[in-house]
Amino acid sequence: MLVELTRSEKLYEKARKLIPGGVSSPVRAIKPFPFYTVSASGSKITDADGNGYIDFCLAYGPNILGHANPKIKQTIIEQLDKGWLYGTPTELEIKLAERIAGIYPSIDMVRFVSTGTEATMSALRVARGFTGRNKFIKIEGGFHGAHDAVLVKAGSGATTLGKPDSLGVPEDFTRNTLQVPFNDIEALIEVMEKYGKDIAAFILEPVMGNVGPILPDEGYLQEVRKITEENDVVLIFDEVITGFRMAMGGAQEYYGVTPDMTTLGKIIGGGMPIGVFGGKREIMEMVAPSGGVYQAGTYSGSPTSVAAGITVLDILEEENVHKKLNATGDKLRAGITDIVEDLGLNYNVCGVSSMFKVFFGDRPRNYQEVLRCDKEGYLKFFFRMLESSIFLPPSQFETNFLCTAHSEEDLERLLAAYQANLK
Ligand code: PMP
Repeated sequence: MLVELTRSEKLYEKARKLIPGGVSSPVRAIKPFPFYTVSASGSKITDADGNGYIDFCLAYGPNILGHANPKIKQTIIEQLDKGWLYGTPTELEIKLAERIAGIYPSIDMVRFVSTGTEATMSALRVARGFTGRNKFIKIEGGFHGAHDAVLVKAGSGATTLGKPDSLGVPEDFTRNTLQVPFNDIEALIEVMEKYGKDIAAFILEPVMGNVGPILPDEGYLQEVRKITEENDVVLIFDEVITGFRMAMGGAQEYYGVTPDMTTLGKIIGGGMPIGVFGGKREIMEMVAPSGGVYQAGTYSGSPTSVAAGITVLDILEEENVHKKLNATGDKLRAGITDIVEDLGLNYNVCGVSSMFKVFFGDRPRNYQEVLRCDKEGYLKFFFRMLESSIFLPPSQFETNFLCTAHSEEDLERLLAAYQANLK
């Protein structure tokens, strides 16, 4: 069945006159036009023309419990009844902070913000304030949101659109941003030797989720931990994607490496806007009003987001979600690998826990390698999958996700679609 998209096409035409590129975030601008969503429930998303898709994009990660999870919905409704923005502290924040600190050994204290972008921007500011140093290191192709200092060789939509750097960011603002390739300890040592005492922080996604998933080589994160410690550099794990995804305690629990600071977002808001940055007490005490590093936000600690977050944690723990989803991920990756091998394709099936991707090329270990994949070919494949009623993120450089709402049948349909469309 060919998918009809006439209404979406018309909406896109109108949107482009009112919103730059017709979208509120660049990665959504699928060419020739994106589908416009009218509703979503469980594993399904429905567009303006009435087409339904099984969703493996899941809003780019937050919806680990599927769309419109009834328990989260109930929590939000109950909170709405009590009002949804106070401009005062709430007990809810203390409860969620306590839960997060209990799960992440790297976190003694947290501050709630509204997006992952704010979380990484603030974490970097705190690390600079704490160390009194200006420079920081990021990974080539690593994505930490859309603030000035990190829009250098950035992943996600920036790479998909071929714009990993941004106009409007003065050189002065990124001259303290250093880059190293992922999985390259030599490069890290070199940068440390050259700039050592000027480096405040090393920020990285422990699993590169915005050009991948690209996995850390065995021992890489441990080595990173050792080198940053030796150089008194604050190690920040950006776990906006991996936090509460790979395990309750994120990639740091999964790989057994404890950073100094952690940024979180996505899953911990249950689909409501949220970001979190946290870390060791001595570092976090630098944040205003305790310390001199300024940070603030009207919507920070939004009661609906925080309440939803507490319910997410309850469900993840009570339903032992990670064990189940990670096992499903293993099974699914094995199934897709069989298909790729049967078809004799030189593609790589990559992933970990409930993240997966078929790379149209060899298995990448870093940004330069992932750029060699056939991204145009991937986009054609994306559209074929859409015609098979499967919604994957529309780029070779974004991770596919599983959620608890995916049924056996959803996964069988996914495998059948891979079989039919990879040919
Ligand atoms: N860090 C990482 C690792 C991310 O994946 C993202 C978003 N994809 C961000 C930060 C920014 O989060 P937000 O879009 O909520 O600002």
